[in-house]
Amino acid sequence: MPTTSDHLATLRRLERETPEAAPRAFRRITHGSFTILYQRARATADRLLTDAEALREQLLVRYSGNTAPKTWSPKCQIYLYDRMRELNVGRHGYHIAGSGSSRASRLSPGLTLSRTISLAADDPELSSTLAHELTHVIFAELLGRHPPSWANEGLARLAESPQNIQRSRRLVRRAVASGDHFRLAELIAFYRPPDQATQLFYSQSADLVRFLLQRRDYPTFIGFIADLQSSEVDAALNKHYGVVDLAELERAWLAQFAVR
Ligand SMILES: [Zn+2]
Repeated sequence: MPTTSDHLATLRRLERETPEAAPRAFRRITHGSFTILYQRARATADRLLTDAEALREQLLVRYSGNTAPKTWSPKCQIYLYDRMRELNVGRHGYHIAGSGSSRASRLSPGLTLSRTISLAADDPELSSTLAHELTHVIFAELLGRHPPSWANEGLARLAESPQNIQRSRRLVRRAVASGDHFRLAELIAFYRPPDQATQLFYSQSADLVRFLLQRRDYPTFIGFIADLQSSEVDAALNKHYGVVDLAELERAWLAQFAVR
């Protein structure tokens, strides 16, 4: 019978034989947990390699509580495009600053097959975008699957710059004041951000995650999201936060806006 290490060796061999093809125009630099594939922005790529390593460690410690994170294998590939307009275009024709994902093996739980982030050198908020995308990679890795959209985007927004977080908070406060916010049952049910109110979705998700993080720590939040795969939301809320149900959470979340 094949052992686990045989199995891992086979998966890694398959992965080597079917690498994600890098566009020819990319050159690469590599160190530690990252490979940066860049076009012409060499200086930005060098800085990114150092920044990504430090940020990876900081975020892994924050989210997992594990103070000695291992170097990633396979390394995380960061595609650094010269321009945002070459990177990707959203459904409404606007340019999206970054994207990041981690692919877990279905055959071997706990094994990550690939980690990929795309960024643009002309992104005026490159370090904030890097923190957002690294959060997606780490979160999927800690869960072994893709997190629910609200939790994924909410946690990633909270890793961004303080200015972005404050802007989100103002947007949510205005939406709550006018009654235009999402009901929580609606927010947590979106498979992906809604077309009509993407910014409100990101902002309100971030605010809900922030609210939960004020009650308990990051690993509790990750454990709560992990349980949502097999438990009803009310049971998971009760177990991790001592909240009876989603309706009680919603009342408490809304109450914070009333006192201001
Ligand atoms: Zn995101």
